[in-house]
Amino acid sequence: MIAHCPGCGYSIMWRQSVYSHVASSAACLLIIFKSNQLNIHFCYVINKFCLLEMPNGKKSNKRRHEQISEPEKQTVLKQTKRVVTKTFTSQIDLAQENDSFKENDSDCCCSSSEKKVDFVQLEMKLVVQKFGPLSKAKALKLVTPYFNDPGQDKIIKSNMFIGAHVSVKGGVDNAIENIQKLNGRAVAMFLRSQRQWNAKPLTDAVATNFRTLCEKYNFKSHQILPHGIYLMNCGSPDAKLRKQSADCLLSDFQRCEKLGITMLNFHPGSSTGKTPIDSSIKHIAEAVNLVLSKTKGVTAVLENMCRQGYTIGGDFHELRSIIDLVDDKSRVGVCLDTCHAFAAGYDLSNEDGYNSMMNEFESIIGIKYLKGLHLNDSKGECNSHLDRHEHIGFGHIGLDGFRRIMNDKRFCNIPMVLETPPDDGVLYENEIRLLYNLIE
Ligand SMILES: [Zn+2]
Ligand SMILES: [Zn+2]
Repeated sequence: MIAHCPGCGYSIMWRQSVYSHVASSAACLLIIFKSNQLNIHFCYVINKFCLLEMPNGKKSNKRRHEQISEPEKQTVLKQTKRVVTKTFTSQIDLAQENDSFKENDSDCCCSSSEKKVDFVQLEMKLVVQKFGPLSKAKALKLVTPYFNDPGQDKIIKSNMFIGAHVSVKGGVDNAIENIQKLNGRAVAMFLRSQRQWNAKPLTDAVATNFRTLCEKYNFKSHQILPHGIYLMNCGSPDAKLRKQSADCLLSDFQRCEKLGITMLNFHPGSSTGKTPIDSSIKHIAEAVNLVLSKTKGVTAVLENMCRQGYTIGGDFHELRSIIDLVDDKSRVGVCLDTCHAFAAGYDLSNEDGYNSMMNEFESIIGIKYLKGLHLNDSKGECNSHLDRHEHIGFGHIGLDGFRRIMNDKRFCNIPMVLETPPDDGVLYENEIRLLYNLIE
């Protein structure tokens, strides 16, 4: 069985009880071990941008990498195998893996590249994840009762606006009917193809139809939060990429103007480790100031991140610093992503963790800047720094975590959008019903 590393696209070999993967030409190093008995995956991620993907055929967006040299990879691989073997020998069935595990065990790992390897090792972390039909089935049992229709009344009368990120295949105007079909009351979408810089121009006909449909289905501006594409990095040390990102952001803002949309959400950016965080933050604010000065009526909504790699925005202080540098404070805000907050270290599965996130949001950023919410459970554990969205109730945040959120009045009247993995059996419409049912 072959899986693909979403970091570099490299194939991951499936052998009896162990997945192992070392990207050879690209830069990422991902080593995955699976215990059949426990249905648990042990994954060493030795790269900031590389994530684990299970062999269920699901694809992720590719990410960029830091280059790790071949000798470094080999040395880290040896060391990792040694640690894993030592730590989990009792739990992992290694019996049939003699060849892949023991071949280098006696080799000394000290080499000329030792210093660099130390640096790479700093990035090495062990991620233990539970997967498999058992835990899925358990989660399903837990959440299914909440899939019942909460009743149109509850949905229509609520000032909690829950919806999902939907496809815009065939035109941005399709987003409104797509979310209508799911019975959602908030919507997110990309305003262009998310995989390429160039975008087809937004025609007058599409824009007019979008506005007509919003009117028809009573979608107001506080229920719509489009998402900027992931290629953008307004905080990049590379001036060319920065310019390209700012241009892309500006064009999305102009699309918003034309569509009558008042907010655009995007990931702040990344320093890529090649520039100090402060300078990256300055660049992001410059991009925001530029697009705000050239457009009217659209607010820039920065998303909190999960502290993965060099991304900016996992620490609320970073978001605050960007806001501080934005000239027009009335047109900047924050969208809180629950999965990112959890992965960044706020344990939303319990009340203390939730309160500490909200209190810090209030004291560091200010609740008036809260413009939207991304509702995602997390595949990774708290503080894992992994951006791995999971269906509501299936991940480590859990149902109670979301019950707390659904009953917090601070989230009234802002768009709350699901970004859970689409098309794998748990439908958005079920999740929307589930969330409405959690409102007490
Ligand atoms: Zn998000
Ligand atoms: Zn995410």
